[in-house]
Amino acid sequence: MKLAICPGSFDPVTNGHIDIISRAAKIFDRVIVVVMMNYNKPNSYFTAAERVELIRRSLPEDMTNCVVDMYDGLLADYCRERNVCAVVKGLRAVSDFEYEFQQALTNKQLNPDLETVFMTADAKHMYLSSSVVKQVGEFGGDISQFVPPQICDDIVKRVKERNGKI
Ligand code: ADP
Repeated sequence: MKLAICPGSFDPVTNGHIDIISRAAKIFDRVIVVVMMNYNKPNSYFTAAERVELIRRSLPEDMTNCVVDMYDGLLADYCRERNVCAVVKGLRAVSDFEYEFQQALTNKQLNPDLETVFMTADAKHMYLSSSVVKQVGEFGGDISQFVPPQICDDIVKRVKERNGKI
């Protein structure tokens, strides 16, 4: 059985993330979406547990081969412990490449059995990031086009709370 992971900070999950996860779930037998807690982003809007919950609510119900988890440690170790064969990452632009290339080579060094699979972002999600969602939300813009409908209100509420507007 081919098991893959889609790691990230997902603060919060966007339609761009869901697209990559859905496509990975079509290729691999099983996919684990992993909210990484040790990411270099200390000022998260959502706790790791909240981010897991938002992803769970966002995944299509018929995507039964996908689960969500969180992890505080090295990705290479997580993959070794669970016999994960591939890390699936989305590539939006050249700017993503350098960082992702470095991560892929580091993971390969730490766990030679682990492959990194890059998927090009869908053209309509090319510009989309969790930061864009938060920035647009902070200025009262419409974020419903960027995030799954099930979680849109929760994100709007949190962005307002963070900006002292509630
Ligand atoms: P990170 O903290 O690694 O930047 P993110 O939560 O922002 O994590 O993203 C996790 C993964 O999803 C990364 O591989 C990233 O390239 C990918 N990703 C993020 N936004 C998009 C998007 N709009 N389209 C495709 N892939 C994306």
